[in-house]
Amino acid sequence: SAPVFSRALAFGDRIALVDQHGRHTYKDLYHHSLRLSRELCRLLGCAGGDLQEERVSFMCSNDVSYVVAQWASWMSGGVAVPLYRKHPQAELEYVIRDSRSAVVLAGREYVELLGPVVGRLGVPLLPLPPTVYGAAAEAPGEWRVPEQNWRDRGAMIIYTSGTTGRPKGVLSTHHNIRAMVTGLVHKWAWTKDDVILHSLPLHHVHGVVNKLLCPLWVGATCVMLPEFSAELVWEKLLSSEAPRINVFMAVPTIYAKLMDYYDKHFTQPHVQDFVRAVCEEKIRLMVSGSAALPLPVLEKWQRVTGHTLLERYGMTEIGMALSNPLTTARTPGSVGTPLPGVEVRIVSENPKKEGYPYVLHAEGNEKETKVTPGFTEKEGELLVRGPSVFREYWDKPEETRNAFTCDGWFKTGDTAVFKDGRYWIRGRTSVDIIKSGGYKISALEVERLLLAHPSITDVAVIGVPDMTWGQRVTAVVTLQEGHSLSHRELKEWARHRPWATVTSSQAGMKPPARARPRAGWAPPGPVLR
Ligand code: ATP
Ligand code: MG
Repeated sequence: SAPVFSRALAFGDRIALVDQHGRHTYKDLYHHSLRLSRELCRLLGCAGGDLQEERVSFMCSNDVSYVVAQWASWMSGGVAVPLYRKHPQAELEYVIRDSRSAVVLAGREYVELLGPVVGRLGVPLLPLPPTVYGAAAEAPGEWRVPEQNWRDRGAMIIYTSGTTGRPKGVLSTHHNIRAMVTGLVHKWAWTKDDVILHSLPLHHVHGVVNKLLCPLWVGATCVMLPEFSAELVWEKLLSSEAPRINVFMAVPTIYAKLMDYYDKHFTQPHVQDFVRAVCEEKIRLMVSGSAALPLPVLEKWQRVTGHTLLERYGMTEIGMALSNPLTTARTPGSVGTPLPGVEVRIVSENPKKEGYPYVLHAEGNEKETKVTPGFTEKEGELLVRGPSVFREYWDKPEETRNAFTCDGWFKTGDTAVFKDGRYWIRGRTSVDIIKSGGYKISALEVERLLLAHPSITDVAVIGVPDMTWGQRVTAVVTLQEGHSLSHRELKEWARHRPWATVTSSQAGMKPPARARPRAGWAPPGPVLR
């Protein structure tokens, strides 16, 4: 069960990554990573090159440095903890402290920004050597996978919001990540000739696993943009220059933004014909996920590019679980069937003693679907089991236990229904989670923050439906008698008060007791947006 990076050995001189600095072969990535891993081990005093799951936080741009930092952490036996450059300092501090990182790696752009943070925490900072960004790398020694017991070793911690407390670190093992990758590679028929355009953040499974580790697993090429820009994405999708993009994946918000751009700039019929012809001819796969894909977005994208977006469903804790088919018809509104190796079932709210009414898929094989007698097409919570399901919430044994049923199924908190031979996501078991732009946001955390404002006496934070964002974070607040507060004042106040500064007594406070509106509910009166 060798780790993902070990496959680089077989792809030596192929182009793995194209970024703002140039082209990088698999060999370059491997050599730079091995070099950095040796430095890392020297710094942490384990010359043998075998950390025991020490956490290695790192902040890098979306370019070669990210891959090198991730692989170096793995090669030295550490757990990679990606930090997001746009997070406020207090959040960065929270992640570094909570993960008890032994060291923080910094891309050259972030050394200055991270200095004060690591200073306060007393954690060493290791800047990436400038040679990483250059194209060629000298071999630092052997060209082989470091010997370690990989299988159940922790590989990555991704922080994710939940319905309780502060964000939790989801720890996935090398085996988990490998299962996520191989499932997708199989289902979506990845080959070494694929070229994917990458434009997502690299601190979520969508950006890390689906768009980066999958291509690197098969020897394909990842063309990585420093960040999303509708103009640049269109340019790359439509360009005939090599390497020619033939795979694209994004969250629904990005598809909506690409169509805004299209409406503004591609107004002439011959341009529109060109766009459609190019997309049909050169792109083989376009995927949407991370949030429900609104039907109007799917339909318009179909008109504009000729592609029916392949919708899939996943979560940090489980990787990808359900996917529409690659070669046969995709069903709008459905998330398809389980990926290879993933088992899925739906349980009703009041499971009877004699067993849940459930439908079970094993090995992603529709022929193996088992439908319990008495099963009705009823909505229930979606449970998932399989090799891609995470090992634990970092340092939170109780939360980990609570996240699973006694027989080992992960409780997703999403409600789903099995109908017409496929799965449909209906919503969440709790409205405390808002999905905006594919990001998972805890309504409770925003409420806690707003409640700390001296003029606010009560607050409800909800997700209001939005065609571009999926949901918009919306706060309904009650003010103290005689106080006034503008939207702009509140926003400004909140901006300078990252949630990490909320005092522990406030953070531990129960949200005000009240009926919560259901997802999709829209407030009648004026709201703060
Ligand atoms: P993903 O890209 O699959 O969302 P992620 O790392 O962004 O991975 P999380 O931030 O943990 O994942 O969010 C997972 C949640 O996103 C799921 O529990 C579900 O509520 C929602 N979600 C993901 N894909 C879909 C989808 N196709 N339809 C509806 N909801 C989805
Ligand atoms: Mg997400």
